[in-house]
Amino acid sequence: MNIIFVVFAFLFGAAIGSFLNVIIYRLPLGASIVAPRSFCPHCKKPIPAKENIPILSYILLKGRCSGCGTSISIHYPAIELITGVLFVYFYLRYNISLEFFAYVTFSCALIIISGIDFSFQIIPDVISIPGIFAGLVFQLAKGNFLPALVGAIFGGGLILLIRVVGGKVYKKEVMGMGDVYLTAMIGAFVGWPLIIVAVFLAALTGSILGIIFIVSTRQSRESPIPFGPFLSIGGLGVIVFYSIIIKFFAMLGVYLR
Ligand SMILES: [Zn+2]
Repeated sequence: MNIIFVVFAFLFGAAIGSFLNVIIYRLPLGASIVAPRSFCPHCKKPIPAKENIPILSYILLKGRCSGCGTSISIHYPAIELITGVLFVYFYLRYNISLEFFAYVTFSCALIIISGIDFSFQIIPDVISIPGIFAGLVFQLAKGNFLPALVGAIFGGGLILLIRVVGGKVYKKEVMGMGDVYLTAMIGAFVGWPLIIVAVFLAALTGSILGIIFIVSTRQSRESPIPFGPFLSIGGLGVIVFYSIIIKFFAMLGVYLR
């Protein structure tokens, strides 16, 4: 294992993460992704290249705009760091292969969707719907088409069912169509039966963080907590902790593959 390649994978991933930040903040506004240059949302000062280095610039600027001193959201370096770490992880696990490209693409799609859902409470169908097909094509190439198709239909169908039943019971939208497409995309990538584990992990992390939020702020939240980031954690968690999950279920006498 050459450390140079690992460092390169991290730097490349962090640079991609920087681009994902641009997509997260411009896609919902319908703004161009390539132009204009990045600028401070507060004072509109264009960000010069030397202040646009992933992670490092945030540290050197101490998290503040060099023009007006407004603090820069921690989301930016966090997304760059997470993307860099995921690129390293998938490189170490799969080297440069079809799996590597498929899973980094999957990760990038989930990061964009989570970022947009977290900030704007919408899930961009323009990412999730092509993502369903990308997942199916990837699994077809691996000879896993049927589990992927069942995973996509089950995942999307389950959330659709919750949406319809929940809507009738609570008389308001409990799940958006965005969550339906997102879960179908995750189902295509993780396949049947792991999609069940992915949705379970999403519900579990969502509930835990929801409770922490309510306890820490001592208020019940009127607007629903966006579920997209939790579905993403569930989907990515299943891929990253695949062997642990398989072993755990085998211990219970359930063989997932
Ligand atoms: Zn500024």
